[in-house]
Amino acid sequence: MKVLRRTVLKDDYLDDEESLLAYSYDASGAEGKPTVVVKPRHAEQLRRILVNANQYRLAIVPRGSGTGVRAGAVCKEGVIVDMRGFDSINNYDKQRKTIDVGAGVTYNKLCTALAKLGMCFPLEPLNENATIGGLAAVNQVTEESFKYGDWHELIEQVECFDGLGRFGTLKGDDVSKVVGWEGTTGVLVKLRIKLVKNFSPTIDTIQVDGFTEAMAEATKAAAKKPLAIEYLDPFAAEACGLSQEEYVLIAYDDDQGSYKREAAVKVWRARKRLNQTLWNDGLVYEVEASLEEDHLEAFMKKCRAAQLPCYGHLGLGILITGVKTRHEAERFRNNVVALGGVPGGKRGYGRAAKAYAPAEMKKQLIRLKEERDYNHVLNPGVIA
Ligand SMILES: Cc1cc2nc3c(=O)[nH]c(=O)nc-3n(C[C@H](O)[C@H](O)[C@H](O)COP(=O)(O)OP(=O)(O)OC[C@H]3O[C@@H](n4cnc5c(N)ncnc54)[C@H](O)[C@@H]3O)c2cc1C
Repeated sequence: MKVLRRTVLKDDYLDDEESLLAYSYDASGAEGKPTVVVKPRHAEQLRRILVNANQYRLAIVPRGSGTGVRAGAVCKEGVIVDMRGFDSINNYDKQRKTIDVGAGVTYNKLCTALAKLGMCFPLEPLNENATIGGLAAVNQVTEESFKYGDWHELIEQVECFDGLGRFGTLKGDDVSKVVGWEGTTGVLVKLRIKLVKNFSPTIDTIQVDGFTEAMAEATKAAAKKPLAIEYLDPFAAEACGLSQEEYVLIAYDDDQGSYKREAAVKVWRARKRLNQTLWNDGLVYEVEASLEEDHLEAFMKKCRAAQLPCYGHLGLGILITGVKTRHEAERFRNNVVALGGVPGGKRGYGRAAKAYAPAEMKKQLIRLKEERDYNHVLNPGVIA
């Protein structure tokens, strides 16, 4: 490990107990003390770290803010590479509506910079301290993905290093070689992202009587090209300030909704904070289910039978619940598999949920590793 000392400035090489402890967990609750933490600030420093890692076969774990909930940025006996030093925001292109953002920029900092330009990045994560690199690495799906898609669709190009320390700028379909692979196929350095005009959401809340009606309302609403189509069971509805009934919540990035301004923002914020609300109620393990339309109701019924809340992105075929224990989370994830669905994906698989990563994804990872990280130094144990 000492070889890495020479790759960064003295203060950016951390191997004291206190620092290692600070990097020994993320928001997943998993623990694992790294051997060393390095904080590169320039591409050349990062290149040298990766070249050395290959020579000495050191495990490299890229890390943003550590807000990930799948233990992707935690390691035992590895090198954590803290990417927050890559924090530039520049090259705003007004015509093309794009901007270049360092992987270590937090969503919060990006929003502040974009607000001055009257623009925004439409996929809003709940945790605004997450970095752009971390969000792209897990290809985060948010409520707004119904209209704007996932990170793949909003990234024009990526500057990154592969596992061997080779720098490249990936464009078009090649972006998919690193975005969504949770730091196993490359370390993201800078991203050119697509922007939209800043907006304040408007909302429609439609009370429904049962899941069939909810689906019918969702289908009707889809024609209006909304920002998001969300399902709320009575518990979730109450937490969003609505009556304790079943609802479909439609959000728009224009004036179509009947709740506007503060009223709309209030409901929308409460919806976005739902997983935090459940967490506060002790439901600290989140289970999300990506299911075929025909099986969404069965998942909702399983939640109801277990007296657990159920909400989610109806328009995207994703429902979510929260449970109290790891064991219960596992049981629910197995329920999702039994229904032919995929538990997770929305926030990555990391080390915590890799058992549920689809087989095709694991196969594809083997191929990408061959091409981009054949010494397997990047994030071993994540996804596969
Ligand atoms: C209270 C709370 C609420 C949350 N709500 C949501 C939510 O609503 N929706 C949602 O989808 N997620 C949510 N999350 C999860 C979290 O915000 C995301 O997973 C986020 O992507 C993590 O960003 P980060 O910078 O903290 O990355 P980290 O946690 O540091 O890392 C996440 C993964 O990305 C990799 N990575 C990080 N930076 C890079 C890089 N530069 N290059 C390559 N790989 C990299 C890491 O190796 C790791 O595998 C929530 C988390 C918390 C704590």
